[in-house]
Parts: sequence; C-alpha cells; structure tokens
Amino acid sequence: MSEFIRKLENEIDASSLITDKSEMAKYITDWPGKITGDALAVLRPRNTSEVSKIMLLAYEFEIPVVPQGGNTSVAGGSVPDDTGNSIVISLERMNKVRDISVSAMTITVEAGCILEKLQQIAEDKGLFFPLNFGAKGSCMIGGNLATNAGGQNVVRYGNTRELCLGVEAVFSDGRVMNLLSGLRKDNTGYDLRDLLIGSEGTLAIITAATMKLFHLPQARSATFAIIPDIDTGLELLNRAQAHTGGAVEAFELIPRVFLELVKKHAPQFHIPFPQIPELCVLIEIAPTNPQNSNNSEAIDNNAKEQLENILEDGINDGLVLDAVIASSEGQRREMWEMRESALEIITKEGNRIGFDISLPLNKVQAFVKEMEFRAGSLVENLRMCHMGHLGDGNLHYAIFPPEEDPDALILKSEEIKKAVYDAISSFDGSFSAEHGIGTSKLFAMNNYKDPVALDIMQQIKVKLDPKMIMNPGKLLP
Ligand SMILES: Cc1cc2nc3c(=O)[nH]c(=O)nc-3n(C[C@H](O)[C@H](O)[C@H](O)COP(=O)(O)OP(=O)(O)OC[C@H]3O[C@@H](n4cnc5c(N)ncnc54)[C@H](O)[C@@H]3O)c2cc1C
Repeated sequence: MSEFIRKLENEIDASSLITDKSEMAKYITDWPGKITGDALAVLRPRNTSEVSKIMLLAYEFEIPVVPQGGNTSVAGGSVPDDTGNSIVISLERMNKVRDISVSAMTITVEAGCILEKLQQIAEDKGLFFPLNFGAKGSCMIGGNLATNAGGQNVVRYGNTRELCLGVEAVFSDGRVMNLLSGLRKDNTGYDLRDLLIGSEGTLAIITAATMKLFHLPQARSATFAIIPDIDTGLELLNRAQAHTGGAVEAFELIPRVFLELVKKHAPQFHIPFPQIPELCVLIEIAPTNPQNSNNSEAIDNNAKEQLENILEDGINDGLVLDAVIASSEGQRREMWEMRESALEIITKEGNRIGFDISLPLNKVQAFVKEMEFRAGSLVENLRMCHMGHLGDGNLHYAIFPPEEDPDALILKSEEIKKAVYDAISSFDGSFSAEHGIGTSKLFAMNNYKDPVALDIMQQIKVKLDPKMIMNPGKLLP
C-alpha cells in the first residue's frame, strides 16, 4: 500500500491526493448518511491523463477504485466499503466545458460538471439542458451518466442516456476511449457509450461527455390538479400531450400521504387546497414555439391558456376534480420546490421502506391497488406513499408504519420487500427505475433480474475489468 501511495505521489500533482482521514470524511459517507466506509486515499485528478495514470497504478497494485461524482447516490454506489483498501476517485475538479456549439446544439463537458451549472451554461446560450431533479446542485454529469439518471423531465426528453451523444472514459488498465465526436448517427458496431451509461462505475470511469441541448422553452405553466385515480390521470396526460403537441414537461403523481408529510415536516410550503386531497398531479407544460414570440407576456398567457383549456376539458369529463394554476413565476417555483424537496421531507419521517420502481403506464394503478392488499395483509394501517414521475411510470414508492405504531415495520420489513418485488415482477415492472443498483438492490438483482442478462453482464464485467477493481461489490451480486 505504501509503495502504491509513493508511486502515486510521483505520478500526480500533490493537490490531487488526500490521505488525511478528516479530509476524506465527506467522500466516504453517502448522502442518506447510512453508509460510512473507509479508504486508502481520495484522488481528485485534474484531467483525463491523471485519471489514466491513477488507473494504471491501481491496476498494477490491484487496488479497488470507487469513482465518485457529487456523492448524491441513494443506492450506496458512490462510497467505498469499510475495509480501507480502496481509493475514491472524485471527478469534482474535472469540471471544464470543452466545447459548446449553438448550431449543432451540443455541449462537451468534463464528468465533474455539476448538473445545475450545465443547465445554466446552456441557458446562457439561449438553449436548454433538460435533465432535472432535486440533487441538481450537487450531482455531476459523470454520475448522472453512470446511473442513467431520470428525474422529472423524462416524459418529454428521456433519461440521461437519451441526452448523451458520446463519452470519453478510462478503463481499469488506464486506456482512454474517446467517443466524443457528437455524431447523431454512428453505426460502427457495438454501442460502448450505452454500455457505460448506467454501469455505475463498475466498467470504467467516465471523464467527459457530449450531451444534446434543446430549444429553451419560451414559457412554463404549472398546475396542481386533483384527479380521481391514476388511470384517469394517464388519460389527462395523453390529452395534455395531444393538446400541446408533446409539450408536457413533467407529470408528477402526489398522493395524500406525501402532502400530510409536507404539512408535518415542511410547513413553509403552501398546499394549494383547503383540504388535503387523496391524489393529485403536478403538471408542467412548456411550449417552445408559441405564437407572438416577441411578447413575453403574451407567451406566458398563451401557455397558461393552454393549461386552462386542458383542465377545463378535464373537469367537464370527470378527469379533474379541482385544480390550481400557478399565477406567477414565484408560485410555479414554490410548487417545484415542494416536489424537489420530496426526498428530504420523506426522510424526516424516519422509519420507512423505500423503492424506486417503474411499471408499464397502464399497470401503475393495478400495482398500487395490489400492493395495498399485499402489504396491508402483512401489517395493518400502513401508510403507502406512491409518489413519482407518473409520466414515465416511475414510482418512488415508500411504505411508512402506522403513526401510532412506528416500530411496526421492523419484524415484517423483509416480507414486505419481497411482496413488493414479487408484485413488480408480476406486473412486468423494474425494481430499479432511476437510482441504480449500488449495494442497496443487490438482493433484487440476484433474484429478479433475467438470469441470462445477469450472466452476460458478469461476463462483460470480467472482460473489461479482469482484476475486478472497478467499484467492486456494486451493481453485480
Ligand atoms: C435529493 C435527491 C434527489 C434525487 N432525485 C433523483 C431523481 O429524481 N432521479 C434520479 O435518477 N436520481 C435522483 N437522485 C439520485 C442521484 O442524485 C443520482 O443518481 C445522480 O445521478 C448521481 O450523481 P452523482 O454525481 O452524485 O453520482 P455519485 O453519487 O457520486 O455516484 C453514483 C454512481 O455513479 C458512479 N460514478 C459517479 N461518477 C462516475 C464517473 N465519472 N464515471 C463512472 N462512474 C461514476 C459511482 O461510482 C456510483 O456508483 C436523487 C438524489 C438526491 C440526494
């Protein structure tokens, strides 16, 4: 180990190496604060060449490597285990924009670029980078790619995978692969970009990426709408898509249980209805080509009118029970702040079993009902919070114990988890929609992933990482 550190010191700049335990602390504890590992060192390379040099040495000495971006993983993927044998490679200092083209509508950035900064850089050029979710101020594009992150705009723009044109990556033996051409068509064999996207640092370190940019929406209008049930909500979504020509930017499901937690833990947020409804959706539409595009007030009114028409039709046809449209940009932002704080609010409630799952859109309602039955027969009066990105079938499904019996989950949690995973499987869903596998879903990966797919993944892993040093113990059981 000391020989490895000595060689590292010779190869890389002193500012790139941290071995002091207190300085390492923030890199070895995960965002939820559930896992604290240990590390031999934290490396903060400044460029791809340094990453390559570090990997060459790690390969020689067979040192496990944990790639890290913003360390906002909620699946346990971004921190080392507690053996103290690994190094963490943080990409945080690799945050340069290498290229931005307004005409090609692309941007090439290093992996450590913080998502919110990337959004801002695009906006400064009059363009739009649509990936968006609560961790945007800390998570980094390399981490977003490594987890194939989703968020609230997937309904319109797709996951991070759909936003990426190419990557640069360093493999375990230090070789650098450059696929940053920005081509939109390139049928030259297996798609290694797609192989690395979603690989959670187990195959290579992503050091840079070329991402697509989009036209900046000219106006946004948001509403909280109360809906009778999930299936009716989907009909409302389809109508809104047809009415706006696909300009629905987000369609978020918000159940009563979550609004009750908002009232309890985040009273600063205003719930826009006199009584907490059973189920509502937060809808945002964002037209990119409104008429009268020189007049911002007319553009805003146009977006709002479109939303009013959708809601009015919805109310007439029983798809909407009541709705509140954000009357100002401030109110729209407040609606989103409440939504984006969901994970923090849910975490404050304490004891829960949480899932990040996806289902075919037409099976979401049946799944929710089935789960009420299956979990309800294990423990009475559970509070089921089926919050999520309904537009793409992703539920951040959380099960809380009854308020009067906070320990009720303790003895039954394994049975409840199994009931949820079994139900997901029987409804053709996925046990990991957007947060990744990390260490938290290895059980499900082992038991519910297609066995042939899992075997092929393991073979790819051995081929690309023969010494098994890339983020060991993550993603693959
Ligand atoms: C408040 C909050 C809200 C969230 N909301 C969402 C959401 O709506 N949708 C969603 O998808 N996720 C969400 N997440 C989860 C998390 O933010 C995402 O998974 C994010 O993409 C992780 O990015 P990161 O830079 O923090 O990566 P990290 O947490 O540092 O790493 C995540 C994984 O990627 C690997 N990795 C990181 N960088 C690289 C790299 N350059 N090369 C190779 N591997 C790498 C790590 O080893 C690890 O396995 C949320 C998290 C929080 C805390």
